Amino acid sequence: MISKIHRLFLPFLPLLFSSALALGADHVTIACVGGKAYPSPTTPAIESAVLLIEDGKIATVAPRSQIKYDLPQSAQKLDCKGKVIVAGFWNSHVHFETGWQDAANVPASKLEAHMQEMLTRWGVTSVWDLGSDPNNTMTIRRRVEAGEVSGPRIQMAGDIFPKNGHPVYLPPEMQLPEAATPGEAQQMAQQYMKMGLDGIKLFTGAFMGAKPTVNMDTAIVKAAVNVAHALGKPVFTHPQNRTGVDNALAGGVDILAHTIPTEGQYTAEELARMKRQHTALIPTLTLWTTVVQDPAVADQLVQAGVNELKQYFSEGGTILFGTDVGFQSKYDTTQEFEFMGRAMPWHDLLACLTTNPSELFKATNKGRVEKGMDADIVVLDADPATDVRNFAKVAYTIRAGKIIYSGPKKSQ
Ligand SMILES: [Zn+2]
Repeated sequence: MISKIHRLFLPFLPLLFSSALALGADHVTIACVGGKAYPSPTTPAIESAVLLIEDGKIATVAPRSQIKYDLPQSAQKLDCKGKVIVAGFWNSHVHFETGWQDAANVPASKLEAHMQEMLTRWGVTSVWDLGSDPNNTMTIRRRVEAGEVSGPRIQMAGDIFPKNGHPVYLPPEMQLPEAATPGEAQQMAQQYMKMGLDGIKLFTGAFMGAKPTVNMDTAIVKAAVNVAHALGKPVFTHPQNRTGVDNALAGGVDILAHTIPTEGQYTAEELARMKRQHTALIPTLTLWTTVVQDPAVADQLVQAGVNELKQYFSEGGTILFGTDVGFQSKYDTTQEFEFMGRAMPWHDLLACLTTNPSELFKATNKGRVEKGMDADIVVLDADPATDVRNFAKVAYTIRAGKIIYSGPKKSQ
């Protein structure tokens, strides 16, 4: 009789036991097992970690030894042994421009392949589009959010140019919103906000080739900034030169979307003002290799950009990662990490990719690998602490608990 009871109950015992301890482990959809996790740029690594994802959120991240229950059969297990787990990356300067036209009619598979090539295979789970055809980008965003196309969370800024400041690198037939007065800038900014855009980007300096740069007056900057700030939205700038930086800072812009390598360095006054106003800087160093033919000149521009990054970083300024992809076509992020790594240690680079943008853009559930946060995760094949270029070696990209990129399987 006793043995009969045993036989009857035995299979149920582990089930009862595990459900008592697991607290909903049955809902775990993805389990990353055995990796080294960096919960944030400032917290110690968890060796041999287990990361459990449930309903799009991080349910647990802990050393393997602390997980007292069996993982549910239904969970997708990712073998992360030898890999590194970090929060999903932000690219705070992209464009859905070159090759992204007519997004409403492009097949989902094609759109997804392009998304992978440009963003998700580089670990990107959040982007800022700093200027493209707004209707086209909104269409891409809609298709991503509908689950039709695997992609990052997309936020977009609407562009405003100075009067007669049509940059030479944009097709002359392209219709650009040029503001001649503060009133016009105010109207344009209001229009963008009405369309549902998430921010504004001002060309406080427009590149005119052999002709002098056209700068935007501070009064025009202020008018657009007031509209965005009243709604709690950020304002970016493309500065081009020193006057472009100074007018942007005087007008209260939040983010410099490029360094200004042709100027060589920021002045002490600029650095102090940037720091005081909590201005963020996106260095876009790889871009400087794409805008000139002569490699020696490109090297000089990159080095000047690195110097400016180093200047602001050493003042404690906020730095964001951004590459201008979709305008420039070097999708591979390796070089940007290498360049930024000349100015800052790897864990600060992790902050540029994760915590800095999450804090600046008030995405309070993103940026860290901690219980309760959104399951926006990157699994790297190698440790960025030993080489910053490893930030570009992505095995998996997960957004809101869904795998949006899975690298090619390597033969053992
Ligand atoms: Zn750009």
